Amino acid sequence: MDPARRICRAGAMKPPVHNVPAGELLKLLDELAAFSVPGPGVTRLLYTPEWCGAQLFLQQRMKSLGLEVRQDRVGNIYGRLSGSGAAAAEQVILTGSHIDTVVNGGRYDGAYGIAAAVTVLHYLQQTFGRPLRSLEVVSFSEEEGSRFPLTFWGSGNVTGLYDGSSREDIADAEGVTLGAAMKACGLGGEAASAGVSAETAAAGGKDYDDAGADGAGAAGTGSVDTGSAVTGPAGSAAVTISRPLRSDIAAYLELHIEQGIVLERSARQIGVVQAIAGQRRYRVTVSGTANHAGTTPMGLRRDALAGSAEMLLALERSAAEEGDPLVATTGRLEVYPGTPNVIPGEVQFTLDIRHSDAGILERYCPQVLEEFAAIAARRGLKLEIQPVLMTTPAPMDKELCAALEQVCLEQGKTYLRMVSGAGHDAQLFAPLCPAAMIFVPSRGGISHAPDEYTPPEELAAGMQVLAAILYKLAYTEEGVIEDRG
Ligand SMILES: [Zn+2]
Repeated sequence: MDPARRICRAGAMKPPVHNVPAGELLKLLDELAAFSVPGPGVTRLLYTPEWCGAQLFLQQRMKSLGLEVRQDRVGNIYGRLSGSGAAAAEQVILTGSHIDTVVNGGRYDGAYGIAAAVTVLHYLQQTFGRPLRSLEVVSFSEEEGSRFPLTFWGSGNVTGLYDGSSREDIADAEGVTLGAAMKACGLGGEAASAGVSAETAAAGGKDYDDAGADGAGAAGTGSVDTGSAVTGPAGSAAVTISRPLRSDIAAYLELHIEQGIVLERSARQIGVVQAIAGQRRYRVTVSGTANHAGTTPMGLRRDALAGSAEMLLALERSAAEEGDPLVATTGRLEVYPGTPNVIPGEVQFTLDIRHSDAGILERYCPQVLEEFAAIAARRGLKLEIQPVLMTTPAPMDKELCAALEQVCLEQGKTYLRMVSGAGHDAQLFAPLCPAAMIFVPSRGGISHAPDEYTPPEELAAGMQVLAAILYKLAYTEEGVIEDRG
């Protein structure tokens, strides 16, 4: 994918003004929000009837807008605008986000990036016709980890983090395995009816006359396999099924709400994400001696909670000293035996530390854990630290970021270079191809909650930036260097 490194040198050419209709975006967001379990906010968990309904709806919408629709065996949905250039098939500009939500989540997280991408692709096709490079919108099946104990199931299968196989080894809270949940949606497996079924989707609360992607799976050869794929029977939506893993992505762009308060505080319209923070998570156990709260003098105690409290204050202080964008959090703490008249004998707590610089994480984390050890030793406590998760920071592509800034300048929009503390699908593409993210503000920094909100004009602003960058990448000669050969 080396040639893609050159796709952003197209800064010199001023793109046409993009007036992508905001009304279409808002309508699509409304329509997607309807695919939810009743209750506050939006609840659309992986492979549930609501999820199936949303993915089927998107297939139909993309198709009606003239996009070539395809889905893979894990339920990712693609809508393609095929390029006319010679290398168009091997070099796809991909944009989108995830369709799943957390329980009682908001209506913008994930859905915004998909709805905006669909709207933009339709607009570009209507306004400029066929692109030189292929453009695709993707609705990833899963990112949040809100039903099964895994995350990035959609983009992870596209990028090789997962191998596309049905998983029987993990289950949701009800004991339903991931494999069984896929099967219930007509997905997964090497053969036989892969595809979101109309019946499953209808249970999500909407009727579909033209639904039913009943094609057989297991087509193709490893990357994208439009040629040999099987489509559904006559009268169905005839959606192509393909293997998830792809090697034809030349660049990945993701438009997303910030889910934090930095942009709003900065009073800028657009966030140009420089990197997605790496995370280190630990489970910490502090052991002392449980004893009578009335008969044990203060000087003779080995209080696991008091020791933990000292550790957490040390964590807060050292994180503040380190400065932005380092963040360190203890979100869960359990005290044993947890009785008012007993000195705590054991405390378990979580530790979540994030930064966009791998070197700083590597230096800071051992340093803070050493400080914990010193506190434990001084108080006669035992300390156990178990690493739970380590993800490396994902730097976004410098040339793409520069091109995004150029777009903002051309459109007269204010922007802020920033780090994403939250994980996103884009981080899985960053090691494989140029990847970038565009943020718009989240009102009050609220996300993963029913109150998640971004005003229409701010949603539209982000979509215009997306339209302009996609135009540069897919429609201009400068963006199609490989086609010249
Ligand atoms: Zn998201």
